[in-house]
Amino acid sequence: MDGLGRRARDLRISLTQACNLRCHYCMPAEGLAILPREELLSADEVVRLVDVAVDQLGIDEVRLTGGEPLIRRDLEAIIAAIRTAHPEVPVALTTNGLGLARRAKELAAAGLSRINVSLDTVDRELFAAITRRDRLPDVIAGIDAAVTAGLAPVKINAVALQQNLDRASELLRWCLDRGLALRFIEAMPLDAEGTWDRNSYVTAADLLAALGEDFALTAVGREDAGAPAERWRVDGGPGTVGIIASMSRSFCGACDRTRITAEGRVRPCLFSDDEIDLRSILRGGGDDADLIAAWREVTWRKSPGHLPADILTHPRRSMGAIGG
Ligand code: SAM
Ligand code: SF4
Ligand code: SF4
Repeated sequence: MDGLGRRARDLRISLTQACNLRCHYCMPAEGLAILPREELLSADEVVRLVDVAVDQLGIDEVRLTGGEPLIRRDLEAIIAAIRTAHPEVPVALTTNGLGLARRAKELAAAGLSRINVSLDTVDRELFAAITRRDRLPDVIAGIDAAVTAGLAPVKINAVALQQNLDRASELLRWCLDRGLALRFIEAMPLDAEGTWDRNSYVTAADLLAALGEDFALTAVGREDAGAPAERWRVDGGPGTVGIIASMSRSFCGACDRTRITAEGRVRPCLFSDDEIDLRSILRGGGDDADLIAAWREVTWRKSPGHLPADILTHPRRSMGAIGG
């Protein structure tokens, strides 16, 4: 519980800040500094923190992210260990899909409950321009493998950009044809190069106008009260499209998320640099009570959220270094 009465239930753990793409809204062109392996939480440390979070702190959902979590070879082992210890807790994965074609089956066998694959466009040239890598066919192969492995419903996350706005309908059609649940996310000022611009970011309203030219959209509300995505039924259904209006209609008052960075620092809010180091407690021989006290302390101070877009400043870490 934080000082404003919000309860964190959804724990997002970054497993690495390394990535094989360089999406310009997230990473610098040269990538983030490669952390030496010993700086990262080990699989056992991740599982121990999940144990504490679930048993003592009321966490009831875990999402593994990064950087690119598929870069971790022990990803399947981490998922299996969490699911074995806490079969009632869903474990989700957010990935760019590279390497998923090879691993989807094992991820499903390890007990992965849900998967979100990030894909901003199905136009190969535009994909390469946004991610600075020509890897669209590999991502599509990964999505297909996830569907085949039974990881349904596969959700697709697309960041809304001026660059892909006129192709938003094409992406939605592509997803509907494959039974994939598409959600657009407003870009947040969490890029590494500070290029996010409050005057030109694409809002939910811009997206609805663009999609509305090609589809009949009927608002159907959120999945549940705390869910960040608002949803619209497309052309009478059954397909829907979601929009996460993180900037223009922020949902900080209902925020139920908390994050652990790849080096083991709890970060209660994306936009506040206030963090606490759990790794040194783990490695210094601290017991559960020490971990819980530190975790509660930083959670109590959780920021109310981000300021209105017109006075917002960039936090120190970029999205890839926090864990989205
Ligand atoms: N590499 C994985 C991926 O791309 O799915 C996981 C990490 S990535 C940081 C998690 C999510 O954050 C992705 O869906 C990505 O599109 C989103 N993201 C990254 N930078 C963002 C930004 N500046 N604003 C909004 N979403 C962002
Ligand atoms: Fe990598 Fe994901 Fe960031 Fe793109 S959004 S650079 S895939 S971490
Ligand atoms: Fe939660 Fe902070 Fe994001 Fe608002 S800005 S939704 S408080 S993490």
